[in-house]
Amino acid sequence: MRDAVPLAELTTLRVGGPAVLAECTSTESLVATVRALDAAGIPVLLVAGGSNLLIADSGFAGVAVRIATTGVRIGADSVVAEAGANWDAVVAATVEAGFGGLECLSGIPGSAGATPVQNVGAYGVEVAALLRRVRLLDRASGEIRWAEPAELGFGYRTSVLKHSDAAMVLEVEFALRADGSSAPLGYRELAAALGADEGESRPAALVRAEVLRLRAGKGMVLDSGDHDTWSAGSFFTNPVIPDSRVDEVRAAIATHVGADVAVPTWAVAGGVKFSAGWLIERAGFAKGFPGADAPARLSTKHTLALTNRGAATAADIAALAREVREGVAERFRVHLEPEPVTVGLTL
Ligand SMILES: Cc1cc2nc3c(=O)[nH]c(=O)nc-3n(C[C@H](O)[C@H](O)[C@H](O)COP(=O)(O)OP(=O)(O)OC[C@H]3O[C@@H](n4cnc5c(N)ncnc54)[C@H](O)[C@@H]3O)c2cc1C
Repeated sequence: MRDAVPLAELTTLRVGGPAVLAECTSTESLVATVRALDAAGIPVLLVAGGSNLLIADSGFAGVAVRIATTGVRIGADSVVAEAGANWDAVVAATVEAGFGGLECLSGIPGSAGATPVQNVGAYGVEVAALLRRVRLLDRASGEIRWAEPAELGFGYRTSVLKHSDAAMVLEVEFALRADGSSAPLGYRELAAALGADEGESRPAALVRAEVLRLRAGKGMVLDSGDHDTWSAGSFFTNPVIPDSRVDEVRAAIATHVGADVAVPTWAVAGGVKFSAGWLIERAGFAKGFPGADAPARLSTKHTLALTNRGAATAADIAALAREVREGVAERFRVHLEPEPVTVGLTL
């Protein structure tokens, strides 16, 4: 264990104060370390790729356990990855080995083990649809077992694992398509870029290349030289407005933006999902807000990413998040929820 390690070094937002750090490079050491800390009643913060964490400048009063396992095994129709394996390297390895299935989730930063935590999704695909099973350490009983996806309570950017200390993911297993074709394309922009109709498949390698190209254009692939990617990805989830409130929100949009404007929405069970990025921009927060000298700004490529321009603190990121959230609530009567896990601070 190392004392007073700045957690900013472990997160893609590059903010976060100090903590004691235990780095675990094998599943055995990970299990032993977390079991021992839990038994001693010492608070544990699991950190893998650090790409979905906003940690306070005061740090974490406990032990940050870095999940640094790396193993990946590709079988006849599935891939099993240890929790700390880099997710995009897992996707790349399956595509290079001639398998399809995971290609739409190319370029997402972080670890394989964190993908079920918030039911990672992009370009019309979510982890919940591809996951075969998850090996968990039950932190109350100390028991290790494989769990089925149905047990994980998956929803939009959430599962029973998010905001919970009940279990740690040790390994994940994903089903693969042996013919090398992609999962059916479910996202219009991606299908159009590939000259396909929604619902069709294309070779997984082609789809992966196109997803990486589209993501890079939005600053959604990590690049240490590009501050637009010093982020936690999308900072807010797309709000789902219950049917009973949809007219009220549409009326607020009509008042502030215009009655004839085309509002991007998706029908979902019990309500309508609005685009958080669209609402943020129409509430007056343009790309790059609040301007070139600010330490924390919206990405210059995408209004949904809050970014560190180099010298931002967690307090700066949180203040910007509050300002955006309050602006959207005031104008459109929509409450935005943060997507990253906050540690030691609230919005
Ligand atoms: C540029 C950029 C683009 C992104 N694009 C997307 C996107 O398209 N879609 C999307 O869904 N997300 C996206 N994200 C968010 C993020 O990459 C994912 O949520 C990713 O899965 C987080 O993985 P991580 O290993 O970095 O998790 P961390 O940030 O290390 O941890 C996140 C949370 O999961 C917990 N956790 C981590 N590992 C485990 C484990 N093994 N067991 C139990 N709990 C664990 C942590 O304690 C923490 O609460 C993006 C982020 C960035 C920076």
